[in-house]
Amino acid sequence: MRVLFREVCDVFEKMEATSKRLELTSLLADLLIKSDDDVDKLVFLAQGKLAPDYEGIETGMAEKLLIKALSGVSSLEEKEIQKSLARTGDLGTVAQEVAAAIIQKPLEAKQFDVSYVFTSLKSISSITGQGSINKKLAIYTNLIISSTPLESKYITRIMTGKLRLGVSDATIIAALISAFKWEGEPGIVENAYNCHPNMGRLALLMKEKKWQSIIVTVPEPMVPVKVMLAERLTSLPLILEKMGGRAAFEYKYDGLRTQIHYDGEKIKIFSRGSEETTENFPDIVRSFKTTFHLKSCILDGETVPYNPETGELYPFQIVSRRRGRKYDLEGKTEEIPLVVFLFDILYLDGKSLLNMPYQERREKLESIFKENENFKLASRLVSSENAEIQQFFDKSISDGCEGIVAKSVSENTPYRAGARGWQWIKFKRDYQRSLGDSLDLVVLGAFSGHGRRKGAYGALLMGVFNQEKDTFETVCKLGTGFSDEVLFALPNRLSTFRSESKPNNVESIMEPDVWFYPSLVLEVVAAEITVSPIHTCAFSSIEKDSGLSLRFPRFTGIFRDDKKGEDCSKTAEVVGIYNNQVKK
Ligand code: AMP
Repeated sequence: MRVLFREVCDVFEKMEATSKRLELTSLLADLLIKSDDDVDKLVFLAQGKLAPDYEGIETGMAEKLLIKALSGVSSLEEKEIQKSLARTGDLGTVAQEVAAAIIQKPLEAKQFDVSYVFTSLKSISSITGQGSINKKLAIYTNLIISSTPLESKYITRIMTGKLRLGVSDATIIAALISAFKWEGEPGIVENAYNCHPNMGRLALLMKEKKWQSIIVTVPEPMVPVKVMLAERLTSLPLILEKMGGRAAFEYKYDGLRTQIHYDGEKIKIFSRGSEETTENFPDIVRSFKTTFHLKSCILDGETVPYNPETGELYPFQIVSRRRGRKYDLEGKTEEIPLVVFLFDILYLDGKSLLNMPYQERREKLESIFKENENFKLASRLVSSENAEIQQFFDKSISDGCEGIVAKSVSENTPYRAGARGWQWIKFKRDYQRSLGDSLDLVVLGAFSGHGRRKGAYGALLMGVFNQEKDTFETVCKLGTGFSDEVLFALPNRLSTFRSESKPNNVESIMEPDVWFYPSLVLEVVAAEITVSPIHTCAFSSIEKDSGLSLRFPRFTGIFRDDKKGEDCSKTAEVVGIYNNQVKK
């Protein structure tokens, strides 16, 4: 059956109004049941995307241009539209108002189906070259003229990359499971997505009930695998105990997660968030072919800048800066040489290694290349002696690392795509002071500044992500650790995430002056975690009518631009740290 775009918009409207995960799932599932071979397009739209992240497809239309187009189809001046945008903070709502005011509508309203709108929007992203802007605007204008006001709202939001329905990938997967009556373990479908994070592909397989293809999903070079992550504990003896008395310990390098794919011809590099970053690492790409002589592979590691004279490792921020400087990297690679410390292999010469035990994967990795200045193995110790492990940890710190990652050497140690589990446990230098680890908190709101901070924000309302509930919860107000320069640049930096009201996936008792869609992630340290009635993190789970909050939080100066909102620290982590604190 053909799903009409206006039906989709009606459902999106209902989804926007609720934060209840079950309700979101069932609204989306009902829509998916009606779909046909357009199911892939539907799920991409629900993600607010036109393709998986790794394809790097963006509609690429600036709000300024869309405002011009909206002015062109209505009797409104660009300035008036700008004003409405400043008032609502959402160009979608403005487009809805503008579309309602267009007098010269075609006599017969068109009934766009999902495929038509999706294909039109996608074609916008593929137009390049001379006159491309006008061609893109013409497609957008045509859509707006012939669509209903509600359709205009969502078309415009998708065009600006700000759909923000508040549904996570996990909710979309739950909706697919319910709509297409998958009867196996939900974890199998989640794993298929983590190994091949293309929601459109998964939706088609589910719709066509190709269960076997889902069960045997394996990685494929050029498609990023969701990275495996580590749990944390705050003492080395505890880690050794948890690992069964013996484990491998690797340096925890402080750089950028780097997944390298090679298919026999091309090389692609993906970030922790599955975005392609190949063009930022021309030196690594060049050196790959002379280092590795294989048919195909997927490697996992951490890229760190270093000083070739002294071998000294530099901090993470230098790579971030380099990563941001997209276009003039070629000449600069000598300036900041990079080394990839490899610690895992997921795929080799046409075969998935995900189910191979960690020890065997490491041996494979060691056997396929000779270390050189661009590629090295992560330093490692396999031990059962606390004293030896402590020494190794101390050395990791003096060698410029953040700490160590313990890895289980038992037989049952597959590479668990997208999972944070006890097979890997991190132990960082920071654990030895105050709270232990830093947390990566997402900005949910801001309070206006006074006095010296007039014109800037006085404090930010920060949150964590509750994976069970699919909502963001508040943990502290943050106003310390900002330089004046950063502080006064924040309103501008945050402006694109502004929301007119509290986003539906945010749970908060506090009412900041400005709300933001959870997007910008900041690294924060604190003295301890306390019970607090005004924060919603793990609300009522430790103490009735109270949540958890950070005491004396301080911004470390590091923006985690490599993380999206949902990649921030989780409620469960805060609860874990709180429980450890209580035990001490
Ligand atoms: P965190 O970001 O604090 O959760 O720590 C996990 C991150 O540590 C991973 O995503 C990697 O980017 C990084 N890392 C550095 N060295 C290693 C290693 N030897 N094994 C696994 N992860 C590592």
